[in-house]
Amino acid sequence: MITLTDIERSAYKNVWVVAEVLAGNIEAVTHELLGAARELADARGSEVWAVVMGSGVTEQAGSLAAFGADRVVVVDDPQLTDFVDEVEAEVLVRLIEKHKPEILICGATTRGRALIPRVAVITNCGLTADCTGLAIDSDTGDLLQTRPAFGGNIMATIRCSNHRPQMATVRPRVMAAPDAQEGRQAEIITEPLNQNDTRQLKKILEVFHSDETAVNLADADVIVAGGRGVKGREGFDLLRQLAARLGGAVGASRAAVDAGWIPYAHQVGQTGQTVQTKVYIACGISGQIQHLVGMQSSDLIIAIDKDPDTPLMQMADVAVVGDLFEIVPELIRAIPKL
Ligand SMILES: Cc1cc2nc3c(=O)[nH]c(=O)nc-3n(C[C@H](O)[C@H](O)[C@H](O)COP(=O)(O)OP(=O)(O)OC[C@H]3O[C@@H](n4cnc5c(N)ncnc54)[C@H](O)[C@@H]3O)c2cc1C
Repeated sequence: MITLTDIERSAYKNVWVVAEVLAGNIEAVTHELLGAARELADARGSEVWAVVMGSGVTEQAGSLAAFGADRVVVVDDPQLTDFVDEVEAEVLVRLIEKHKPEILICGATTRGRALIPRVAVITNCGLTADCTGLAIDSDTGDLLQTRPAFGGNIMATIRCSNHRPQMATVRPRVMAAPDAQEGRQAEIITEPLNQNDTRQLKKILEVFHSDETAVNLADADVIVAGGRGVKGREGFDLLRQLAARLGGAVGASRAAVDAGWIPYAHQVGQTGQTVQTKVYIACGISGQIQHLVGMQSSDLIIAIDKDPDTPLMQMADVAVVGDLFEIVPELIRAIPKL
């Protein structure tokens, strides 16, 4: 195994965040990661750099300073209009070789999950995917990357001591975004797209939007979620009515999705979406660890279950013991239509 000497390791500095821009807007996960990167960099006395790749993205680059970036590397080229993992990976590897970051983090989004593993392979570095917590050993610079392991039954903290940069992807909504500091400035470093960056094996013929991804649980302030206790599709119709009264979205446990009562796009948890909503109302969900990791950061958790001893009822801010088929209709009656 190739390992770095202390001198080689010390050549790697700063914490990088690979920014994500969608339809001209910086995605919220980028702000969340900048907050985490700021804490890691402060512990190491180093800087936070953001990397923005895309077409027409220079405009957005400056805004990243407000969330903690000290420098922003921008690669703005029409050839980066559509995301192609092979191309962005080449760009990122070249930037890594040139600037040598100690740590590189990216959202565990569809894009991040396609991009960062490629970069990790090319640079011969480790990658911890789907982290739920990041800390640092301030002496060695080892990133302490925490994520659920063994089906979510334990939380593992992983180090990649022998290689640099250390890379991790983090799920959206797991970390809180810092407040924007207006007036904060960052140095903008413009890098060109090189000839070698544009090698790709695949060609994009068409881009279309799937209805499945239209369920945006991540941005909902209220989620009414159902589990096996909802008992079927009709039960979810009831939850939809409650969600509509509250201006919210409908979520589900994997048991409900696996039963075919509601599409996968609604699933919350380890193998579904991670949400950090203002109010999470769980109906007939027992709250196994794989579900909890997807919603436990919500501000107010209300659980409705017949069994007062389930993990979710025990951790909820408000636990309502009873039959959801009696309680949910009562709530719908009590809450006026929006
Ligand atoms: C690798 C792996 C990944 C996984 N990923 C996920 C994931 O992303 N998301 C996820 O949710 N799960 C996931 N799971 C599955 C998870 O372990 C649980 O099996 C699942 O969350 C259970 O769903 P549930 O709470 O709806 O069902 P149950 O555990 O069966 O709970 C049903 C609850 O409904 C209550 N109930 C029944 N009838 C009523 C009623 N009339 N009124 C009120 N309450 C009632 C019961 O008391 C019970 O508490 C994963 C598992 C593995 C191994």
